[in-house]
Amino acid sequence: PYDRPSLTLFNEHCDRVEHRFGLAGLHIKERAIRCEIECDGVVVELNDGRALKTANLVLAVGASEQPQWPAWAPRNDPRVQHVFDPDFDAWPASPETVAVVGGGISAGHVALRLLHEGHDVHLVSRHALRQHQFDSDPGWLGPKYTTDFSREPDRDRRRAVITAARHRGSVPPDVGRSLRRAIRRDRIKWHEGEVNQVVADHDGLKVGLLPGDELIVDRILLATGFASRRPGGSLVDDLVASATLPCASCGYPIVDSSLRWHPRVYVSGPLAELELGPVSRNIAGARRAGERIVDAVRTSGTTIS
Ligand SMILES: Cc1cc2nc3c(=O)[nH]c(=O)nc-3n(C[C@H](O)[C@H](O)[C@H](O)COP(=O)(O)OP(=O)(O)OC[C@H]3O[C@@H](n4cnc5c(N)ncnc54)[C@H](O)[C@@H]3O)c2cc1C
Repeated sequence: PYDRPSLTLFNEHCDRVEHRFGLAGLHIKERAIRCEIECDGVVVELNDGRALKTANLVLAVGASEQPQWPAWAPRNDPRVQHVFDPDFDAWPASPETVAVVGGGISAGHVALRLLHEGHDVHLVSRHALRQHQFDSDPGWLGPKYTTDFSREPDRDRRRAVITAARHRGSVPPDVGRSLRRAIRRDRIKWHEGEVNQVVADHDGLKVGLLPGDELIVDRILLATGFASRRPGGSLVDDLVASATLPCASCGYPIVDSSLRWHPRVYVSGPLAELELGPVSRNIAGARRAGERIVDAVRTSGTTIS
């Protein structure tokens, strides 16, 4: 029951959901730059100058716009890129020596892809390969762990529970098997250590590793995940300030069990984490958020953006 669907099946499912609910017709392809809560609704300003007025707002901004850049990684060298950067275009066109930095599923997939495309691959991770089937124990999908979590009034303790429960920097068994095989056969060079500096010159990138090692590579691909700060950037920051929305000391929203941050503002994804727990960032969490928000809005008899 824990096997993942194939990509084709998942894509077909997404197409069917989109068709069934007419999502394409509802999609406005534009960036929201500001939200303002008024007495009778919320105004969402778009980048193209338009403004939408709605009774309710759901902030479902995800964390995809804040890839985690390590301090040592040069920002303006096209040979160093983060795989989650929206403008990522760093797959090498001809054989190269590439360092992939990171110890999770993305680093694993990137390293294996580069290997299959004929590159010389170094995989640099701060820790040994960690293997977990899921990002967190499946007990978080039901009452086993969520009952106690919901009873915990202290948001700092909830944050600590989430941090401990999430298996960051881990790979599922199939990726783990492929990586271990490639490392054993020396097809991927494994380096357990911390990058402490990168010196860039015309011949290549010198990657200094602690404790005491150095690689010379043509390219560095960062698979270092997403920054842990509250997502949403100035859109959410300004809304917090203008509507005095409650936040925990980690900066994340304090919401009620309907994921309501304000009578007209709901959250999902990472922003709902302190209420939904460690699954909030994945698809199961998105479903739970959808159920709670739809229930709340149906009860209030209003519409949503
Ligand atoms: C490598 C990887 C593997 C994963 N594998 C799994 C898995 O196997 N199973 C699983 O359940 N989950 C998995 N996840 C997590 C899954 O991707 C998320 O659960 C899901 O994408 C969350 O959807 P979302 O809509 O909440 O956020 P996102 O998918 O992050 O979407 C948020 C969207 O909001 C947009 N946005 C942000 N700010 C604005 C703005 N101001 N105006 C307009 N748009 C804005 C963003 O551009 C983005 O398009 C994986 C994630 C990654 C990165």
